[in-house]
Amino acid sequence: MSASAEGAAAFVPPDAGLDELRRAADGCRGCALYEDATQTVFGEGGAGARVVLVGEQPGDREDVEGEPFVGPAGRVLDRALAEAGIERGDAYVTNAVKHFKFQRAERGKRRLHRKPGLTEIRACRPWLVAELRALRPEVVVALGATAAQAMLGPSFRVTRERGVALPFPPLDVLGTREAADAGAGEGRIVATVHPSAVLRAEDRDAVYAGFCADLTVAARLLA
Ligand code: SF4
Repeated sequence: MSASAEGAAAFVPPDAGLDELRRAADGCRGCALYEDATQTVFGEGGAGARVVLVGEQPGDREDVEGEPFVGPAGRVLDRALAEAGIERGDAYVTNAVKHFKFQRAERGKRRLHRKPGLTEIRACRPWLVAELRALRPEVVVALGATAAQAMLGPSFRVTRERGVALPFPPLDVLGTREAADAGAGEGRIVATVHPSAVLRAEDRDAVYAGFCADLTVAARLLA
């Protein structure tokens, strides 16, 4: 079967809970990324989660294991959540794009991360909207620019507005140019860097401290 021109919308069951969404997402052909990836990596966490953390896309490890944030970046995230005082049990973790996008290294078997494009982010957004509709979290944390722009629109800049509690846009305009000015939906959103930025940084301690500080802003909203 080839990728659907409508994106994931054709595969999302209406008014579904998380378990039904997860099962349906297994068969998604909303863009071409399913062709080379191992499996759909849907969000993980309890239906009562008060905070939803949204990353970019699954990495190599996540693609193999079928769970989000189980690789090196996930370990950074777990540590930072604990330091910020966010209970892992209060959190649901997911990604803006639910299949791993990669290219093969010229030599060897390594699969190198490729950033998802706007078309893939747009195609996959119905899954994120459905997760947020099912969860209705008090706080959403955007981990990195892709996640932030997938929700707050293409003009949002993490470097300018990270660590600030902003109104969460209504779900029907999520990620569009109107998202920033559409008025508040339910809950708040805080943007920060992706935890993989800590692993790539020359000064890991400083980037990690900034990441924890941003998560602490989210934690205070839950207090
Ligand atoms: S990346 Fe998203 S839209 Fe594309 S096939 Fe996977 S789940 Fe569907």
